[in-house]
Amino acid sequence: MKHLLFLGLLSTLLVGSLQAQQLYQPRDIKQAYENGTRSPDGAPGKNYWQNSADYTINIKASPPDRTIKGSEQITYFNNSPDTLKKVVVDLLLNHHLPTAPRDNGTSEAYLTSGVHIDTLMINGRGQEWKDDPGNYTFDIVELPESLAPGDSVQLSFDWHYDVSKQPGREGQIDSTSFFLAYFYPRIAVYDDYKGWNTTEFTGRQEFYNDFGDYTVNVTVPEGYTVWGTGTLENAEQVLQQDALSRYQKSLTSDSTIKIASLDQLEANKITAQNGSNTWTFSSQYVPDVAFGLSDHFVWDAASVVVEDEIDRRASVQAAYNDTTSGFHPMVGYARHALDYFSHHWPGVPYPYSKMSVFQGGADMEYPMMANDSSFPDPVFTRFVAEHEIVHTYFPFYMGTNETRYAFMDEGWATAFELLIGHEVLGREQANELFRTFRVKPWITNPSTLEDLSIMTPNDMLTDPAYGHNVYGKAALGYLALKDLLGDELFKKCLHTYMERWNGKHPLPWDFFYSFNEVSGKNLNWFWKNWFFENSYIDLAIDEVQKAGQNYTVTLENIGGMPAPTDMKITYSDGSSTIRHQTPAIWKENSGQAEISLTTDKTIQSIELDGGIWMDANPEDNEWQNN
Ligand SMILES: [Zn+2]
Repeated sequence: MKHLLFLGLLSTLLVGSLQAQQLYQPRDIKQAYENGTRSPDGAPGKNYWQNSADYTINIKASPPDRTIKGSEQITYFNNSPDTLKKVVVDLLLNHHLPTAPRDNGTSEAYLTSGVHIDTLMINGRGQEWKDDPGNYTFDIVELPESLAPGDSVQLSFDWHYDVSKQPGREGQIDSTSFFLAYFYPRIAVYDDYKGWNTTEFTGRQEFYNDFGDYTVNVTVPEGYTVWGTGTLENAEQVLQQDALSRYQKSLTSDSTIKIASLDQLEANKITAQNGSNTWTFSSQYVPDVAFGLSDHFVWDAASVVVEDEIDRRASVQAAYNDTTSGFHPMVGYARHALDYFSHHWPGVPYPYSKMSVFQGGADMEYPMMANDSSFPDPVFTRFVAEHEIVHTYFPFYMGTNETRYAFMDEGWATAFELLIGHEVLGREQANELFRTFRVKPWITNPSTLEDLSIMTPNDMLTDPAYGHNVYGKAALGYLALKDLLGDELFKKCLHTYMERWNGKHPLPWDFFYSFNEVSGKNLNWFWKNWFFENSYIDLAIDEVQKAGQNYTVTLENIGGMPAPTDMKITYSDGSSTIRHQTPAIWKENSGQAEISLTTDKTIQSIELDGGIWMDANPEDNEWQNN
C-alpha cells in the first residue's frame, strides 16, 4: 500500500512537472490530439487518417507556342471520418493572373490569363465549372452527391494555360525550353486539424500535398526531350536506338554518360522522328510531379547505389544548355549527393528511382526534379543542387505542411546542406559559407521581426523574417539538438520520426514528441527556448571565480536560445584548450549556467566561440585575468 501510494505520488509529481513543461498548442491542434489522430508519444494517432488522389494526366506542349493543353482523370479517396459535400481544387497557375494577390510585385512578362478549365466531369457526368472570383489559386467544387467516408469520387478535367514568358518556379526558360510545374488541377489537402487547406498561393508558399500515384503522358514535337518526375516507361518508343542504348547504359553506370550532345540533337539523332512523341512517366505515392522539356538541352546521366542490401540504383540525370559550363559536372554532384544522403545524413536510402536536375532559374525542388540555376561560382551551383536534392526527404518523403510550418523542411534541408558541405568543401569552408549565407543576415539584424519565434505560422510572416525563421534559425536548432544528443541518439530519433511519418503529414508537435519519446528525455525546455520563444543567440561570460585550483565560470544566456559553444581557455604559460559545452548547460536554468574547471595552471583568458551558432554580441564573450 505504501509502495503504491508512493508510486501514485511520484506519478502525480511527474505529470505535474511534465505539464509545467508542456508545449503550447493552438486549440485546433490540441483538438487533433484529443481526437486521437495525433498522439502524445509523437507517432501517428490510432485514429490517424489521410486522403489521397491518383492522377492520370495527358499534357500537350508545342513550343514555341506557349499554350499547354491538358486532360486528366482523378480518383479522390475520402479516408476521413467526414462526409464531404465539396472538394477544393488547387489551380496554382492562377498566380500569374494580373489581379492575383502576390507577396511581391512582378513584371508584365510573368502575367498570363491563368488556368482555363474547359470541361469538368464528376463521376462521368458533365458539370459546369464556376470560377469563384474571390479565390485565385484554388476553387471550391460542389459535389453532386456527397462523398461518404471510405468512398471515392472520379473527377475529369480538360484545361489549358499559357506558360509565362518570365519563368518563376515554372514557365518558359527560353523559347523552346519549358518547365512545367503546378500545372494540373489538383485536389487540395483535407486534413485532421484544419480541414480543407485554402491557403492562397501568393508566391512564397511551398508544398502541402496529399500523396498519390501518377501516370503522366507528355506529348511534344519530335526533337524534344522530356525530363520529369517518375520512371520513364517508354524510352524505347521515344528514343532512337543509339540514344536508347546510352540511356539504358546510364542506369547501371557509375560514370557520366552523355545521352544527348548538342551535335546529336541538331542532327536529329536523339528522339524518334514521328512528328510528335508521347513520353510516359509513372510514379507511386508522390506528392506532386513536374516536367522540363527542350529541343536543345543536352542530357547527361549516370546512376548510383542508394540501397546497399538490395543493390538498388537510382538514375541521376541533368538537362541543360550546353553553353552553361556550370552544369557540365552536375551529374557528378548529384550522384555524390544521393550517395551521401542515402548513407550518411539523413542516412535513409534515396526513396525514388531517379533524380533530374534541370537548368532553370528557380532553385526549387520537386519530387525527383530540381529546377536550378548555374552560378558564376561552381561551389554555389553545387551547394544549391545539394540543397534542392535533399528536399527529397523533407518535404516529399515526409509530407510536411510547408504553407504553415516551412521550418520542418527548409530547416532540415539547410542542416543537411551543411553536413554534406563538410564532406564536399571541408568543415571550415562549409561552416564559413553557412555562417555568411544562413546565419549572419539574421543574427546581425537587430529588428523586432527577426526574433519572432520559429513556431510563428509562416503564412503570417514576410521576408526577411520568413526566410531567417525557416532556414538558418531552424537549421541551427536541429544542429544544436544533434550536438545535445550526440550523433547516435540524434540519428535514432530522426530515423524513428522519419519512419513514423514517411508519406504522412507530421506537425511540429509530432516531431518534438517523437524526439522526446525516442530519446527518453523531456526536451521541452529545448523546444521551448529554441522554437517557441522570441529568442536569438547571445551568450556572455558573466564572471569567473577562483577557489584554489577550481574555477567557476558563470555564463549568461542573454538571447535565450540554448546554443552550444566552445570555451577557449588560455593559460598563463601560453597553452590553450577548448572545452565544448552542449546545449545541456541551459537545461536547468535557461538564463544562466555555471561551469566548473579544475586546473593546476593559471587561466589567463576565456573566450566563447559559437562557431556556426554566431553570437549577436561577441563583445561580452571574453574574460581576461587582470
Ligand atoms: Zn529549400
